[in-house]
Amino acid sequence: MKKLLSALFLISSLVGYAKGFQVITLGSDGGVIDGNISGYLIRDKGEENFVALDAGTVIPGIKSALEKNNFSGLSIPKDTEWSDTGYIFREKIKGYLISHGHLDHISGLVISSTEDTKKDIYGLKSTIETLKNNVFNWKLWPNFGNEGEGFKLNQYTYQELKISEIKNLNGTNLKVTPFSLSHSNYESTMFLLENNGEYLAYYGDVGPDQVENSKGLEETFKVLGPLIKEKKLKAIMIESSFDSSKEDKSLFGHLTPKWIDEEFKVLEKYSGEGSLKGLNVIITHIKPSLKKNDNMREKIKKELLENNTYDVKYYFPVQGESLEF
Ligand SMILES: [Zn+2]
Ligand SMILES: [Zn+2]
Repeated sequence: MKKLLSALFLISSLVGYAKGFQVITLGSDGGVIDGNISGYLIRDKGEENFVALDAGTVIPGIKSALEKNNFSGLSIPKDTEWSDTGYIFREKIKGYLISHGHLDHISGLVISSTEDTKKDIYGLKSTIETLKNNVFNWKLWPNFGNEGEGFKLNQYTYQELKISEIKNLNGTNLKVTPFSLSHSNYESTMFLLENNGEYLAYYGDVGPDQVENSKGLEETFKVLGPLIKEKKLKAIMIESSFDSSKEDKSLFGHLTPKWIDEEFKVLEKYSGEGSLKGLNVIITHIKPSLKKNDNMREKIKKELLENNTYDVKYYFPVQGESLEF
């Protein structure tokens, strides 16, 4: 029996048997309150190592997920000098995928970099340039990179991604393909992650194509369409920063429930009528309100659920939550 099991295991690892994705929310919000902004961890469930999808918040998110027992399957050596938070941060996160250089997507990475280990930072050229020239430059922060101004501490290796080109993510068996998005005329990124023939699409900040005068979202939908048809797309992570009362001129490169529904109309054009039913859609980057009696998360949730034209399955994960697809 044991022999049979190990033979089966060997075969399944050779053919790359898909075990699915785990997504842990490090930070669920799109700014305003520090300690819970734009950051996720993703891994192949059959593996121990994660990559981060943006890094607005890192350490408080790991702490929260530990409290909720959401790293339970990971092996942490008993004799390590590091706390569980420290060990997961240093050893289990193998790299960072950064969608764009805005502060709310990098602040956790920067502030915890003094305790980090050698890792890769992946991004499009524009993102890497921002990190290199404006962040890790000894003026805003010491140069922890392998390129750029002054003495290079060489902790982070910049991995410049090329649009539509697939790349292996070191230390994991995930692969990524990036696509360019328009975020108030600034470049942002959709990362298409692949895990043994299964996919997950992570959108950084993005405005509606019509408002941005862009084809960015539509170009990504052309890629996702066939994957939805073949039932290979496990989930989409996309932002809804504001509720639908926000005027188009005040969106500044963000989406609302109304616009998500509009954009799904375009997606359905490429995936086929009725094909979005039950598609897992994770809402990110909700901008909290500081007004009395104004709960932006509840408002956005209500709007999306009440006007769910394509019958997708929405998720609104909070910090520390784990989702599996
Ligand atoms: Zn943002
Ligand atoms: Zn942004």
